[in-house]
Amino acid sequence: MGDGSARAFSAAFYAIGIDANPSPPGDERTKELAARYTSGDECYPERVTLGNFLKVVEREDFDPSRVAFFMPTATGPCRFGQYAPFLKRALKKMGYEEVLVLSPTSATSYRELGENISFFRKLTWWTLISSDLLRRMLHKRRPYEKVPGSTDHVYDECLEDLCGVIAERDVPEKAKLLNIVQSLQRSVRRFEEIDTDFSKPRLLIGVVGEIFCRLNTFSNEHLIRKIEEYGGEAWLSDISEWVWYTLAEVKKNLRLRGKGFSVNMLKAMLAGYVQRRDEHKLLELFERELKGYEEPHDITKILDLSESYLPCKGALGEMVLSVGKAIYLQGKGADGIVDISPFTCMNGIVCEGVYPKVSKDHGGIPIRTFYFDGTAVDLDNDVGIFMELAANYHRKKQVPRTLPYYFKIAA
Ligand code: SF4
Repeated sequence: MGDGSARAFSAAFYAIGIDANPSPPGDERTKELAARYTSGDECYPERVTLGNFLKVVEREDFDPSRVAFFMPTATGPCRFGQYAPFLKRALKKMGYEEVLVLSPTSATSYRELGENISFFRKLTWWTLISSDLLRRMLHKRRPYEKVPGSTDHVYDECLEDLCGVIAERDVPEKAKLLNIVQSLQRSVRRFEEIDTDFSKPRLLIGVVGEIFCRLNTFSNEHLIRKIEEYGGEAWLSDISEWVWYTLAEVKKNLRLRGKGFSVNMLKAMLAGYVQRRDEHKLLELFERELKGYEEPHDITKILDLSESYLPCKGALGEMVLSVGKAIYLQGKGADGIVDISPFTCMNGIVCEGVYPKVSKDHGGIPIRTFYFDGTAVDLDNDVGIFMELAANYHRKKQVPRTLPYYFKIAA
């Protein structure tokens, strides 16, 4: 998760009675601590999450009897499923075997999270959508700010406001959603008031890739800021895309097992209906702001776009989304695509193999994979060259971009 979403997610925990905090942000100490308990075979997100948790253990006020670490788990070939066991092993080595690692899984319907799970599921969904929306506003406005740092400041204020309403305890479901809506309305106004220069649109760069590394700014060496420094504006794929994908996978697997008409399929469809309804309620507040930045209405659109390169019945996970989304963004008028991937992650490697063909089939749009593993990289050089390619493509591209209302006002 990105820092903002982690803060909002912690607030959701607080609302159901758990005193939660996001793990501390990454820094050099994160890498040092992770290096003590890893061999180098682990993927970079695993090292960053481990190192950040171990920074909590180092705190003077750390009380092993009162702390639990939240680290969900999953099955499948992705190394994410190893994170929780790995953390437990590191804690054991440090003499903190008793520290609880909370790993809710869909297999147990998340019962580990207590009795009020139905409300918590809804609340976390609203939390993810809302924090995604604030981040989208940050990325849309920051490249055009006249006063450096002003958009970050507003973003922080909006996040604080949102976390405050999410965290309130004993608020009935309907009132909670209404409070979130009102908080977002205040945020739209705050972003609109930022002093900006919209006289000329910047190059639009779509950002796809591995979910942790692309959202965690420490892990990707603040690549989006670098794109902004070089005259670009980033459109980052959000977290909710992954939630929709996993729901589509549940339905696909039920059909494959001959359970297209079953109670489980009905449950999946109902979950999708409720999610879509609530998402719409929050998204419509930003309709005017997000003109030209619309996400696809249905995840199947992304899967269909990926079909000729990585068919979703054969390839799984983020690679399918990254390729499909890259094509979608090209269709929305993006001038270049960046794929953020941890070094050695199969998603990035597979995508990098098909991107030349994707680019060739889509007007020659530049697509570049940036790998990260925590070692020093010369982003200036690489981003500078990439932005030159994007500028070249921009001059000859056939797909126009729909600009939001404020550019017309400026013109
Ligand atoms: S997608 Fe890749 S980097 Fe991310 S957890 Fe899985 S293996 Fe690691």
